Amino acid sequence: MSLLTILKFKCPNCKEGAIFESNHQLFSFHVPKMHTHCKTCNLKFEKESGFFIGAMYVSYGITVAEFLSIFVLMHFVFNTSLMTAFLIVVAVIILASTFNFKLARTLWIYLFYNK
Ligand SMILES: [Zn+2]
Repeated sequence: MSLLTILKFKCPNCKEGAIFESNHQLFSFHVPKMHTHCKTCNLKFEKESGFFIGAMYVSYGITVAEFLSIFVLMHFVFNTSLMTAFLIVVAVIILASTFNFKLARTLWIYLFYNK
């Protein structure tokens, strides 16, 4: 398991097949569509119905980590006002939402993948 494979949203089994239909889309107003099975090795991504509900916890953790790190960077390193730092954080979180969604689900798949 490598970090690059996760960041490229590749299958945990063969590390070649894409998990999502559009892998290079950074931001979208639509929920990213997932493949049900890996196109290369046929691994089923959604192990059971409701499997990805738990990925919301991962998504929450990623968002909080981004929120705090960007806020601290803006306010304490770049000395922006609280309101400016907050608005920048909100803009980044919205723009990163598609990426966060994909990352959370990919991490969830990797968490419960065993050979
Ligand atoms: Zn695969």
